[in-house]
Amino acid sequence: MAAFHYFTHNLRKSAELLGVSDTAIDVFKTPDRTLRADLTIALDDGGTATFPAYRVQFNNARGPYKGGIRFHPAADEDEVSALAAMMAVKCTVVGIPLGGAKGGVAVDPKKLSRAELFALSRAYVRAFAEHLGPDIDIPAPDVYTTPEIMAVMLDEYESIMGKSLPGMITGKPLSIGGSEARDTATARGAITVLEALLKDRGLNPSQMSAAVQGAGNAGAEAAHLLQGLGTSVIALADSRGTLVSEKGLDVEAVLATKELSGSVLNAASATAHQESAAAVLESNADILVPAALEEQITGANAEKVRASIILEIANGPITPEADDLLKTHAITVIPDVLANAGGVTVSYFEWIQNRTGERWSHSAVETKLTETMQKAYREVADFARERGVTLREAAYALALTRIVDAMKVRGRL
Ligand code: GLU
Repeated sequence: MAAFHYFTHNLRKSAELLGVSDTAIDVFKTPDRTLRADLTIALDDGGTATFPAYRVQFNNARGPYKGGIRFHPAADEDEVSALAAMMAVKCTVVGIPLGGAKGGVAVDPKKLSRAELFALSRAYVRAFAEHLGPDIDIPAPDVYTTPEIMAVMLDEYESIMGKSLPGMITGKPLSIGGSEARDTATARGAITVLEALLKDRGLNPSQMSAAVQGAGNAGAEAAHLLQGLGTSVIALADSRGTLVSEKGLDVEAVLATKELSGSVLNAASATAHQESAAAVLESNADILVPAALEEQITGANAEKVRASIILEIANGPITPEADDLLKTHAITVIPDVLANAGGVTVSYFEWIQNRTGERWSHSAVETKLTETMQKAYREVADFARERGVTLREAAYALALTRIVDAMKVRGRL
């Protein structure tokens, strides 16, 4: 769980760096609004079940609240608040005019049927509808929520409001106003940032190896894109275990096996063997890509990390304690608030298209995404170099400056 105190830890560090006042920090670190509801749905067996649900609207100084909704058993107010705050930082780092929010339902979606899942999605929207909307708060997919679920949520919202409002939610299927290139945006944005960093350091991706934790949407796409750069993907893990091949995995074949059989482990062969789920973090690959859940690299295992670069595609995969240890060992961390901001960037492009009625081509979206990520990387990397701080410290410092500025301009500070 990305606990809220991790966020305040990062915030304090950047405030010290910038000499930002405690008052500004205190105002900024308090969520604008925390919404809670118990969602009761009918089950297929005739019974009912109730799930706690949250929507935390963290800060809207720079634009409407924005952030995904996750369906996960561990979702709670603390986690959702931390993720909402990170959304505000993320949107600011990539310079898009949106604020930060996050939603969550404490549920194991794998235990629900499709009908139950859809009922839960509709119940979520009914509970929070008056606080959602294209100019208010715009949800999107997150852990275990999909374009299909976004479609159902939009349908419920529009039936409550009695009109078409496609900009109320992003990450929708293409057929109802989703954007081209949204599904691959998180991974593509992350790999764009990685490429920029490697170029800065004179490193050639085709001479490097990578280990990817997570074979869901972002992890699978990242592994695919890395292979496309000529990087040898030597470890790929899902929740059941890690598949390892020192010679490099055939990413497409492994992902196809996972699709059919449920796990990357079933692609084991003469050249690829199975290891534990945690083994991926200790792989001797040059680049480690955590693309699963939070708190994977902690004080207990940080010293075992052998990669020299970590690309945080998941939100909050490294605890602050581990972050400090990695810094001591001069391991470069490309922080989540920069690395995975490609998802919300294309969500922003989707929202623009919904509001203007335009349809942008796949290549137009990808070109704009690449430009946005390269610019964000440049700003963060330059700040980090000038101040001698980590990329995470630089990203938080830049975001804090911009958000505090917006709050001052609005007279909130
Ligand atoms: N859930 C994604 C994130 O954590 C995307 C959010 C969005 O598109 O609003 O960045």
